[in-house]
Amino acid sequence: MLENKDQSRTSIAQLGEFGLIEHLTKHFTISQESTLKSIGDDAAVLDFKDEKAVVSTDLLIEGVHFDLAYMPLKHLGYKAVVANLSDICAMNATPTQITVSIAVSNRFPLEALEELFEGITLASKIYNVDVIGGDTTSSQKGLIISITAIGTVKLDAVAYRNGAQVGDLLVVTGDIGAAYMGLQVLEREKQVFQVNPNNQPDLEAYTYLIERQLKPEARTDIKELLEKLEVKPTSMIDISDGLSSEVLHICKQSGVGCNLYEEKIPVDPQLISVCEEFNLDITTIALSGGEDYELLFTINMNDYDKIKANPNLTVIGHMTEAKEGNHLITRIGTKIPLKARGWNALQEE
Ligand code: ADP
Ligand code: MG
Repeated sequence: MLENKDQSRTSIAQLGEFGLIEHLTKHFTISQESTLKSIGDDAAVLDFKDEKAVVSTDLLIEGVHFDLAYMPLKHLGYKAVVANLSDICAMNATPTQITVSIAVSNRFPLEALEELFEGITLASKIYNVDVIGGDTTSSQKGLIISITAIGTVKLDAVAYRNGAQVGDLLVVTGDIGAAYMGLQVLEREKQVFQVNPNNQPDLEAYTYLIERQLKPEARTDIKELLEKLEVKPTSMIDISDGLSSEVLHICKQSGVGCNLYEEKIPVDPQLISVCEEFNLDITTIALSGGEDYELLFTINMNDYDKIKANPNLTVIGHMTEAKEGNHLITRIGTKIPLKARGWNALQEE
C-alpha cells in the first residue's frame, strides 16, 4: 500500500486545506449542460429545465465499508462513485453530477489522495458526470468518503420501489453473486499474505470475480435500453445488499408477494466453479452476496416479448398477491420462504 512505501511521500499538512483542495480538484472538467456553476464558489448551481432532480448519498468508513489491505485507493475511488451512480440508475434516472467529501488522517500522504482521486476522475469521465463540489477535512483515524450523486429523469419515467403489481415479471440485469465471491477470494489471499508476505498470489482463476468486487460498474445503460425496447419498469431497485433483500424491499413497499425461481438466477460460470472450490452454495451466494450493482425491476407481463431475447435481462420470477408470501422455488420444485440475509449475515456464518 502507498502509505507504507516511503519513497516520495508528500505530507498533506505541507499543502494546507486550500492547497490540498486546489490540488485534488484542478483536473475536473465540466461536460454537463446542466452544470451552471461548479467547484470554487460557496455552492454549485444546476439547471435541469423540465427534468426532475434525483439525489442520493453514501458514506464509506475505512474498516467498516472497505479495507485498504486489498482495496487499492484508485479502485476505492472508482467504486465509491459507481455505488452512488447505481442508486441514481435504480430510479430509472441518468446521473449527471457528483460531490465528493473526504476526511483523512495524516497517515495518508498526498500521493494516496491522488490515487483516490484518480479513481474518482476515471469514473466521472467514463460515466460522464461532473464533480461539482465536496468538502475536505481531517479525521483522527482512517479515511472517510462521502459521495452524493445527482441525476435527472422525466417525471413519467421515474421508477420507485413501490410500483410492482400482481402478475408483473421480476427482471434482473447482468449476473449476480460474483462481487461477493471476489471478496471471499481477496480475504483468503489477505490471510495467506499475513502468514507469508512473500507469497505471490495466483489469481488467474478469479479475475472476473475480483474485478466485480474491486471495479464494479453502474448500469447506466439500462434506462436507455428499456426506452429503446419501449418498456417502462413498474418498480426498480439496485442490488447492493443482495438479491433476496432487494426483492423483499420491492415486495414490501409494493404490497405484493413473489415467486423467485432458483434455476433462473443468472450466474457467471466462474462463480459456479469457485463456489465449488470454496464449498459454498451458489444460490445462497447469489441471493445474499451483495455489491453487484445490477438492477432489479418489475415489468408488466405484456412486455415479456420485448425483453425476452435481450442478453442483459433475465426474468427470474413474478409478483403474486401479498397474502401468498415471498418464495424461492428451488430447482427440484420445492417452495421455500425467501429470507433477507444480507452480506453481513453471510459474513458471520
Ligand atoms: P467552504 O468553506 O465553502 O466549505 P471549501 O473551501 O471547503 O468551501 O471548498 C472550496 C470549493 O472546493 C467548494 O466549491 C467545494 O465544493 C470544493 N471542494 C472542497 N473539497 C472538495 C473535494 N474533496 N472534492 C471536490 N470538491 C471539493
Ligand atoms: Mg468546506
